[in-house]
Amino acid sequence: MSVKMGRDVVLAVDIGGSKVAFAFIDSSGNLQSEVATLPVPFDRNGVADVNALLEIFAPFVKKNKAQAIGISLCGNVDLHTGTAILVPNLHWKYVPFGNMLSEKYGLPVFAATDVRQALLAELIWGKAQNRKYIAWGTIGTGYGGYLFLDGKLYGGFHGFAGNFGHNSSGEADGFQCGCGKKSCVETFVSGPAIARAGQKLVDEGKSLILMRKAADGKVTTRMVFEAEAENDLYAVEIINDVIRRVSISLSGLVNILDLEMIVLGGGVVKGSPGFVNRVSNAIRPYLMTDEAKRDLRIEGESFDNSARIGAGAYAFDMLGIIKFWGAHE
Ligand SMILES: [Zn+2]
Repeated sequence: MSVKMGRDVVLAVDIGGSKVAFAFIDSSGNLQSEVATLPVPFDRNGVADVNALLEIFAPFVKKNKAQAIGISLCGNVDLHTGTAILVPNLHWKYVPFGNMLSEKYGLPVFAATDVRQALLAELIWGKAQNRKYIAWGTIGTGYGGYLFLDGKLYGGFHGFAGNFGHNSSGEADGFQCGCGKKSCVETFVSGPAIARAGQKLVDEGKSLILMRKAADGKVTTRMVFEAEAENDLYAVEIINDVIRRVSISLSGLVNILDLEMIVLGGGVVKGSPGFVNRVSNAIRPYLMTDEAKRDLRIEGESFDNSARIGAGAYAFDMLGIIKFWGAHE
């Protein structure tokens, strides 16, 4: 092996609905710093404050370590311009965040939606290396994903492919979804949906364990997971229902696209022990072919936060420092 002079490093940043996580990573995907997490600055109208957000990059950029900034953003991003097209959690529409960041700090900025970055991390450094038919799915505040088909990242006609969570659950009297429709799968499987189901139990005086945990009467997603871990039958039923609905949803993808692997991440996936294995078992009866039943692999994300690692991977790929073996859309 040749000795490398100097080390290539980028600043990889995951901008979520409430927190921003910064880390320096090298061109092998290894962390070169602690991960620093800061709150997203919001203005008094609940809109993420663009200038304040740009400002919190300053201490990291001033370390003068990074050749570029890779961004993972919790919404739809124009890959070519880095413009945040629609980011419901930040209440952004058409914010040219990539350009603003690049102009402010004089560094190249490469931004993409978090699910795409997570999938890229799995393809380059994670469990999906050298595989051609992959879906990434995040189940957290919402439920969505991204696709890699026949060796190519797949964004669809408008770049909005992968919104698994916004297919209908088929429930006639479902809940209002953040997307504007009713009864989306997301409204039954996301973190807020789990908290809502737990809240209903407490309001009806059913789960003594949850009632004890929610001393002030307010149930959180975390409490439902804790109650499940304590074998509270009501909480177990909530999570079983989530597993069943996610399995049905993902089986639809596999039956249509003949995927070989689905990698799952997000707070809900990490919140319940064995979630990935349980989906892996529960999905089999919904798969059409014996080949899919035999070969489909359901995996948990390879990294602490695949989206942030993928933000770095994308920057290295765009800089030409690493070569992504697959194709971009
Ligand atoms: Zn929806």
